[in-house]
Amino acid sequence: MPPAPVPVPIETEPESPLDTRGIGGHPRGLTTLFFTEMWERFSYYGMRALLMLFMVKTAADGGLGFDTKTAAGIYGTYTMSVYLLSILGGFIADNFIGSRRAVLIGGIIIATGHFSMAFNSLTNFYAGLILIALGTGLLKPNISTMVGGLYSPTDERRDAGFSIFYMGINLGAFLSPLVTGYLAQSDGWKSRLVAWGFDPLHSWHWGFAAAGVGMTLGLVMYELQRERLATVGHAPAPGQSRPWGKLGLVAIASLALIAAMKASDAHPALVYLLFAIQIAAILFFAFRADQDSKRIAAILVFFFAAEIFWAIFEQTGSTISLFADRLTRNEILGWSFPSSYWQSVNSIWVILLAPVFAWLWIKFAAKQPSSPMKFTLGLLFVALSFVLMVPAAKLTAAGRVGPLWLIGLFFLQTVGEMLLSPVGLSTMTKLAPARLVGLVMGIWFLAAALGNKLAGVLAGDFKSENAGELATFFWHQALGVGFATLILFALVPWVKKLMCGVR
Ligand code: GLN
Repeated sequence: MPPAPVPVPIETEPESPLDTRGIGGHPRGLTTLFFTEMWERFSYYGMRALLMLFMVKTAADGGLGFDTKTAAGIYGTYTMSVYLLSILGGFIADNFIGSRRAVLIGGIIIATGHFSMAFNSLTNFYAGLILIALGTGLLKPNISTMVGGLYSPTDERRDAGFSIFYMGINLGAFLSPLVTGYLAQSDGWKSRLVAWGFDPLHSWHWGFAAAGVGMTLGLVMYELQRERLATVGHAPAPGQSRPWGKLGLVAIASLALIAAMKASDAHPALVYLLFAIQIAAILFFAFRADQDSKRIAAILVFFFAAEIFWAIFEQTGSTISLFADRLTRNEILGWSFPSSYWQSVNSIWVILLAPVFAWLWIKFAAKQPSSPMKFTLGLLFVALSFVLMVPAAKLTAAGRVGPLWLIGLFFLQTVGEMLLSPVGLSTMTKLAPARLVGLVMGIWFLAAALGNKLAGVLAGDFKSENAGELATFFWHQALGVGFATLILFALVPWVKKLMCGVR
């Protein structure tokens, strides 16, 4: 029998040759974005590592002397706002200034915020938090959009590119707490400050300043290498109308959402309302006839899944840090370390696993699982991470448990993260209608914002005194996410259809 004819793609023009001059055979622009985002995340996580401690330490330790509840409230609202303001940042880039300029301006605002916190005054502290949240809203979604813009819609390197980009994020996230923590808390640095004639109680502000220096380095890199971005991230054409009215609406809606989520502390029913609105929105868009609407419905399904994922994952700073501090033997091979070092373990796993995933996606190429399937697996792994904590919690009845439990937990969560987070970034850039790509990226980070908030709500029930209750705490959450995993699994074929040809 003669071999079946190979279908020949119909092409009117030859494709331009792929740019393979950047990291790992990727476009050169990826290198620029990798290092810019690495430094931005260095500043974000470096500051975040100090934030809670700085607020609760007394004035005698150089801190603000807030009680834990107040500090946790500010921390939660801040981490939520950082991600929530991405919608506004995405909108501004799409309709006014383009991603390129948004990243530059956002970075300048972020650096200003960190430097503001370098001064020992409460006004400067709050001004710093607001500036960082606003600046991150401009930078974070738009730098991710530009990564997507480096690849054509059919380029199989896209997911791998996002995995590499994600590694840059985590390189910054891993290194910065070590630097800012050393400046803020170590005796060595404090005695150096004394020798130089500075007040050692202000060591925290040196840590905040270091975060600002990191962001500044990122900006310098970005400016020097901007021409590598080729055609991505330009402002909309001058003739295009500028929707000032809509901008006002998006700004007001963002602030209202921040206020509503804050109010959900006192009125938990608001969370159910939020879920109901999301389901209604999915159905509304799914049953409209046009392709853009169907894709938006798919985006909203991913949104829901991501929100649930982050609600477990983002308990690292709360539930897991308490488990590490109170219930884990923090030593390896005779070396004991402070419980806060656990916060770097997720990033270490990302750095180890990102190349494995980048390789996997290239190897599987067109045969890799669809993005809804990857999301399903992501949820499954984060559920498994809490299943693992059930026996760990039971064992705490006999005292502290060994460090392998948490190493295992972070491994499972990071595998889940690699299946969901970079894939989510990549999928959003593919599904978004071109004129809305910045906005859609903002919506993606809104899932992280709400997930952060839910993580805070869930962690509120953490109890370290009773092993049985603690095991139930983990088991119930694992069951909840397990259930969500099954639903998403059942929906995979439908979501694929909604994606209208995008994988
Ligand atoms: N750790 C990743 C980052 O900082 C993802 C955070 C998120 O989207 N929740 O970019």
